Amino acid sequence: MSDHETVPAEVDHEEEIPEDHPRYQDLLTRHRIEAGVEKGITHLQGMHAEGRGSAFDYLLGEETIPSAAAAERAAAARLLLADEPVLSINGNVAALVPGEMVQLAAAVDADLEVNLFNRTPERIDAIVDHLAEHGAEDVKGIEADARIPNLDHKRAKVDSDGIYAADVVVVPLEDGDRAEALEAMGKTEIVIDLNPLSRSPQVAEIPIVDNIIRAVPNMTEHARELEGETESTLQAIVEEFDRDEALEAAEQRIRSGRL
Ligand code: ATP
Repeated sequence: MSDHETVPAEVDHEEEIPEDHPRYQDLLTRHRIEAGVEKGITHLQGMHAEGRGSAFDYLLGEETIPSAAAAERAAAARLLLADEPVLSINGNVAALVPGEMVQLAAAVDADLEVNLFNRTPERIDAIVDHLAEHGAEDVKGIEADARIPNLDHKRAKVDSDGIYAADVVVVPLEDGDRAEALEAMGKTEIVIDLNPLSRSPQVAEIPIVDNIIRAVPNMTEHARELEGETESTLQAIVEEFDRDEALEAAEQRIRSGRL
């Protein structure tokens, strides 16, 4: 039996997961979601979302496929062009990539807003604290003084100077109803979701079919590299990206089972 088969079923710290384990990323992701649930950041249902994502990621070969890399570059360009970009944070996002979201927000000058499907004041506070521990200075979503039209009350809550006013919103692992309602408001949506058939990537101007733990650092890297480019260069990058082709490429990769 090789060493990596002896990973304990329960690890207390992610450092206990051997980096050379063939399923390292998956084990790390699972551990972070479990830790998020224990910390009161992630709802138990987040585990199911994680399981669904993990299955799609396995079929994608657990790597950023070329169409996702193009989407991540276009997303970075679109964020740099935005007037009021906002990055939406839910319980899974906060558990998986807190520091990485803070870095992306800094790279594209965006706000962070906590936006939960299962909203409670305790979870909002826990997530805001968690983001602060990872370097966030100002997090929106506490006030929740505006509503997204055509959504039930709890899920519709947003900040009037955050998502409500934003022109471009990054919505990772978002539920389909809210993604559709944001689209109906005229928002430009950048969706990160491992399932290309889910409604959220289907309504996104830029769907990124990749694991959020790879997608967000990639977007930040692109944003840093593209910073200082002219508006027309950024515009050309956005226009060059073909959302339908990208969704099709991801679905093909998943269905073909070529690993
Ligand atoms: P819809 O309402 O759009 O049909 P759904 O019911 O499939 O969505 P959920 O079960 O809420 O949505 O799951 C959230 C989505 O997040 C899933 O499509 C899943 O593939 C995706 N997902 C889960 N974990 C990750 C991850 N680490 N990176 C990217 N996407 C993920």
